[in-house]
Amino acid sequence: MTLGRRILVVEDNELNLKLVRDVLGHAGFDVVEARTGEEGVELASTCGPALILMDLQLPDIDGAEALRRIRSNEHGRTVPVVAVTAFAMRADRERAVDDGFAGYIEKPISTRELPRQVAEYLTKEDRLG
Ligand code: MN
Repeated sequence: MTLGRRILVVEDNELNLKLVRDVLGHAGFDVVEARTGEEGVELASTCGPALILMDLQLPDIDGAEALRRIRSNEHGRTVPVVAVTAFAMRADRERAVDDGFAGYIEKPISTRELPRQVAEYLTKEDRLG
């Protein structure tokens, strides 16, 4: 089961986490937070997110490994997972789609663009059925 407006944000940087929480909360999304990859994997299967924003660089397992674990769980086979990574990390961005991410959002995160970016990934998912 997924909840249409619930977004799981996996991010270890408190400032980025606060920014995403504030912006998406203000835009009417229901934000659930994880600060480590392991916590993200756990919440992906228990909180029923419609979309996951996944920082690639995390203190324990990295974002790609967290995605693999999410996909190996029956509750996480189809949820779109979007990589969040610094613009400078070009190799990370290029690898993200090959690794199975739905796409990526660049840091620094744009407070103006983020709600639209998230809505777009959700809509894309609806169209794909
Ligand atoms: Mn990080």
